Amino acid sequence: MCMGCVEICSAVFYLNDDTGLIEVIEMDAYPESDIDEAIKYCPENAICWEQD
Ligand code: SF4
Repeated sequence: MCMGCVEICSAVFYLNDDTGLIEVIEMDAYPESDIDEAIKYCPENAICWEQD
């Protein structure tokens, strides 16, 4: 786990100390450009957009 997404977009991604996993904060509206940046730099291609 590189923590890149947390560094790029800490408003959305955070490390859950209980699970040891990166999780997404529930928001009404997400900062799209910051998330797209995190997607671009994630070395594992582990982040994607999902529609409701
Ligand atoms: S989701 Fe991607 S950018 Fe975030 S910690 Fe995992 S590998 Fe790194």
